[in-house]
Amino acid sequence: MSATRVLLKYCGDLTKVTLVEQSIVYGTPVVDGIAYAPVAWTRRPSIPALNAPDLPEHERPAAMTQFDDAADAVVNSLRTRASKATGHACALLEVSASMASDPAWRKGVKKRIARGIPPVQATTEATEEFVTIFERQGGIMAQRTTDLRDVRDRVIAHLEGRPEPGVPKPDHPVVLFADDLSPADTAGLDPDMFLALVTELGGPTSHTSIIARQLGIPCIVAARHISNIAEDEYVLIDGRAGTIQVGVTAEEAKGQLEEDHKRRELIEQWEGPGRLADGTRIELLANVRDGESAQEAASVGAQGIGLLRTELCFLDSQSEPSIEAQRQVYEPAFAAFPTSKVVVRTLDAGSDKPVPYATLHEEANPALGVRGLRTSGHYPDLLPHQLDAIAAAAKIHGHDKTWVMAPMVSTLPEAEWFASLVRERGMIPGIMVEVPSTAILAQQFMELVDFVSIGTNDLTQYTMAADRLSPDLAEYSDPWQPAALALINQIAQAGKQTGTPVSVCGEAAADPLLAVVLIGMGVTSLSISPSALQAVGAQLSQFTLEQCQAAAVAVLGAWDQGDARYRVRKALDING
Ligand code: PEP
Ligand code: MG
Repeated sequence: MSATRVLLKYCGDLTKVTLVEQSIVYGTPVVDGIAYAPVAWTRRPSIPALNAPDLPEHERPAAMTQFDDAADAVVNSLRTRASKATGHACALLEVSASMASDPAWRKGVKKRIARGIPPVQATTEATEEFVTIFERQGGIMAQRTTDLRDVRDRVIAHLEGRPEPGVPKPDHPVVLFADDLSPADTAGLDPDMFLALVTELGGPTSHTSIIARQLGIPCIVAARHISNIAEDEYVLIDGRAGTIQVGVTAEEAKGQLEEDHKRRELIEQWEGPGRLADGTRIELLANVRDGESAQEAASVGAQGIGLLRTELCFLDSQSEPSIEAQRQVYEPAFAAFPTSKVVVRTLDAGSDKPVPYATLHEEANPALGVRGLRTSGHYPDLLPHQLDAIAAAAKIHGHDKTWVMAPMVSTLPEAEWFASLVRERGMIPGIMVEVPSTAILAQQFMELVDFVSIGTNDLTQYTMAADRLSPDLAEYSDPWQPAALALINQIAQAGKQTGTPVSVCGEAAADPLLAVVLIGMGVTSLSISPSALQAVGAQLSQFTLEQCQAAAVAVLGAWDQGDARYRVRKALDING
């Protein structure tokens, strides 16, 4: 969406009244914050035409060496950058480097060169072959197609004697505009130089979004109408409203930048525990994947773990780990929160999280297939083994603080059966609400289990019938969609009526503005990635329960996701 308005601009001298064109482009907001700086564009290079003539036989061996040299150069440059990066950025660069050295992909290219196809064309064709395979496998493999195409572009640049594509190296702060950003582009960005990220594609769960959250810089994705905004043009980015404004002067931007500065200070100073402005206590928990991330969560003020994603411990396991091996993996997470609540989610294998030993292959629609609790139908021993391992790990922690929930529950009998298995082991049973069928019957489900946790990533995906990984459907995968909000509200009301704790552990809880709405609806705890915890804690500390409730009332009946955000900002008297 975009809108243009022409303003008469008066600068204290009537003879100098000028016409200024201000235009606003809208995208999907991902990371809150204001930035004002000139645009620096980066675009993926176009793929060279695939019509070069065949190579004569005697030139083919040299062409293979040329390809190997180009691929080696890419591996080296990515590894050099990885050695200078840390955390997620380092891991992303290592993944890209390993793709450039992948023997099967290299063999695919050289096989084609041996048949006479020139190296650039051979690289393009072999890459597309692997992209098709990855896409067929779905889930995390499908997400790796961006990395692979990025490696292709880098290798082709070397083959053609050009510099590798990537983000510019500005000598002054900029807002980075891109059609799409690869993980290798975003890894290692300097937040002092790149004040905000805006992409035409990408979704709230894309690499761009993850990196922007980590860097704490405003980010807007799925901004479909930015292509006319020129290099070096000054733009005002509002990462909360999802707006990109052109034609704004530094003087006009000043007020918003100052307010944003205060907001950032509040975030840095926030230490927990979660509390509203009127003193109401709010349970702020963390989403973690292992002991290390649990430690990080404890260090930023999390009051416990609200989602331990156990499948992420086993993404590379070809066979089921023994009960003892699983216990050893879970125990450090409990150890990070020895006296607090820890919610463990049983294996969510399948769809976007394929686990080799627990995922069916060749499913036509993996997101609608055998995933989460449904895996038990095909692999009946996995769940009892996992629950035994969790119960064993919980011995150091206390079973009464160990809450265990199942993902992808969609029927009442499933919930009843799961709860009985968890209770048999002395732990507290719950379910994730991720499927509309469960949201619709929330009250009946609550009679069977002791708590629920709303997985808004999947609940939005299934409510809106929009693949959560699709870069083309970010507007639909937005938890601010009125239908998703109506269901969340319905679940929260059912929780109040039955006295059942209702948590939210999807990305919605990590959106500071939406967190206010969720608390107003009656959600009793939020579970958030450690990097977003302080921003949510700081935002909640600004509003009373009454204000949160007013925001929750205001949002219901919204026309679309933009209107929903607008209504809440208005109810809370927030500018922008
Ligand atoms: C969710 O669906 O919101 C959720 C928390 O689970 P995951 O993102 O791991 O599927
Ligand atoms: Mg989910």
